[in-house]
Amino acid sequence: VEKMENVGCNKLQEVEELGESRILVFVRLRPMAKKEKEVGSRCCVKIVNGRDLYLTEFANENDYLRLKRLRGRHFSFDASFPDTTNQQEVYATTTAEVVEAVLQGRNGSVFCYGATGAGKTYTMLGTVESPGVMVLAIKDLFTKIRQRSCDGNHTVHLSYIEVYNETVRDLLSPGRPLVLRQDKQGIVAAGITQCRAYSTDEVMALLQRGNQNRTTEPTRVNETSSRSHAILQVTVEYRAKDSGMNIVNRVGKLSLIDLAGSERALATDQRTLRSLEGANINRSLLALSSCINALLEGKKHIPYRNSKLTQLLKDSLGGACNTVMIANISPSDLSFGETQNTLHWADRAKEIRTKVAETNEEIMKPPESELDQAKLLLALQKEN
Ligand code: ADP
Ligand code: MG
Repeated sequence: VEKMENVGCNKLQEVEELGESRILVFVRLRPMAKKEKEVGSRCCVKIVNGRDLYLTEFANENDYLRLKRLRGRHFSFDASFPDTTNQQEVYATTTAEVVEAVLQGRNGSVFCYGATGAGKTYTMLGTVESPGVMVLAIKDLFTKIRQRSCDGNHTVHLSYIEVYNETVRDLLSPGRPLVLRQDKQGIVAAGITQCRAYSTDEVMALLQRGNQNRTTEPTRVNETSSRSHAILQVTVEYRAKDSGMNIVNRVGKLSLIDLAGSERALATDQRTLRSLEGANINRSLLALSSCINALLEGKKHIPYRNSKLTQLLKDSLGGACNTVMIANISPSDLSFGETQNTLHWADRAKEIRTKVAETNEEIMKPPESELDQAKLLLALQKEN
């Protein structure tokens, strides 16, 4: 039997071996914006074969005259999406498999990363006409649950929080900041709102309302602050009885994360990191880069405790979880530096090893009375 080449499918299985896995890394290029066109910017990103990406530096004309060639760099990712890729395609390639695994009780995280204006919120939340990964994931989840509704009970709960300036806020019911606490399942935000969700439309409305609660800068009241991180967490619980009357309880958690703008905030070397820390840029993003560096260097101690974001993402980065990173970039040469930085980090993220996500399942014996009844029933059936 000939093996079918199936690009875009089974990416999770592809990378899992010997109990180890790695972060899947995708890059999405957005279309050139009107403003960028108006100032005559050039496209400096080229995507080939849906995987390879070439970044060209036009900026230094002197270099070009001297070397008689453009400086460029080649990258390769699990997939690179050109600016013609639609939301459904991005969802299907990056997140659909993670959602399927969540239904089987394995945790998953998808995060968008990139400079302000690179397309993170568009990819995650999207618009009413073109909903993004958050909405498509929940829609898909409901479809899959409906197909399986005969074999047990599923319940879906949502929570939506923001990390801004090292404060965690509940986007579904704004009020006092939330306190993070260590629980036996990991870090949890005490008193967080868990909305029970029944339909996709309801979820879209909930998310949009939540997004309006994100922090804005006083000078730009209609725009979400570029320093705000948003985390949507979807918990899917499954309860059923197996053939031996045992109760099977399975819980899968999906975290979808729209990170703050990464401009200037992610540094590779410790010295730059320290100087940025003094400048009060974005503690959470700095801490994230420290954690990624420590994971890559194979350090025993990973400094998750240094920020709220890294505490919340601890499981996604170093735990047993299917983790996906989508790096968003602009095509314009005006954003060359930011794009280079984003791609550099995406390239490093490919090296992070994680543990294979395990099924969170609990099997409970039925109460004695129920078991006796079942035995009696069985005995009666045999007699007849
Ligand atoms: P970020 O959240 O990274 O700051 P946004 O998602 O807000 O950036 O995107 C900036 C602008 O570009 C928005 O107006 C958005 O609608 C548009 N945009 C981003 N990605 C795309 C895309 N793939 N297709 C069409 N428009 C996009
Ligand atoms: Mg945004």
